[in-house]
Amino acid sequence: MLNLIFATHNNHKLQEVAQLLGDKIQLQSLDNVNITEDIPETANTLEGNARQKAHYIFDRTGANVFADDTGLEVEALGGEPGVFSARYAGPACNSADNITKLLKNLNGVQNRNARFRTVICLILNGKEYLFEGIVNGRIIENLVGDAGFGYDPVFVPDGYNETFAQMSMQLKNSISHRGRAIAELCTFLKNL
Ligand code: IMP
Repeated sequence: MLNLIFATHNNHKLQEVAQLLGDKIQLQSLDNVNITEDIPETANTLEGNARQKAHYIFDRTGANVFADDTGLEVEALGGEPGVFSARYAGPACNSADNITKLLKNLNGVQNRNARFRTVICLILNGKEYLFEGIVNGRIIENLVGDAGFGYDPVFVPDGYNETFAQMSMQLKNSISHRGRAIAELCTFLKNL
């Protein structure tokens, strides 16, 4: 069985990914390997942050590891908030503040096209691999729904009339950026 560390402190993500990876892979949390500190993510791209987080853990453990990074990329804002999605409205701000800033910046803007993009960096036997997942959609003008997190209440994926925040977790995972990136990772691992 392959042992793999997921470089996240987010238990919710860990459970989600464990389920998707199946029983051929023994997923380890950072707690399992006694890493309790925040992992630095100071790069200015999603790829850079995913690589930085994976290498940080690899350098300390020498073990197989993967890390992910996600951003919301809005066409009319030149790809913003992108890598700064978590702290768009400032370092101490929450999702509501980030959405308020986003809707303000899009006030009166016709082009509402946006996408979520997730990049995963895997380090397996010392070699690095990158995977990507994208979901295209649009930003609506008001918040709708209360499931999910982050920008979910204002994002409607292409082909649907509801926001991510109105969807069951199962439906969201089956079409989301993160779900797609993890599916790419799973396919790669299952074909080893
Ligand atoms: P992370 O790299 O997964 O921590 O994501 C960075 C930020 O992107 C989060 O803090 C959220 O603001 C946003 N984000 C990531 N994934 C999602 C999602 O599935 N729905 C809504 N917002 C998300």
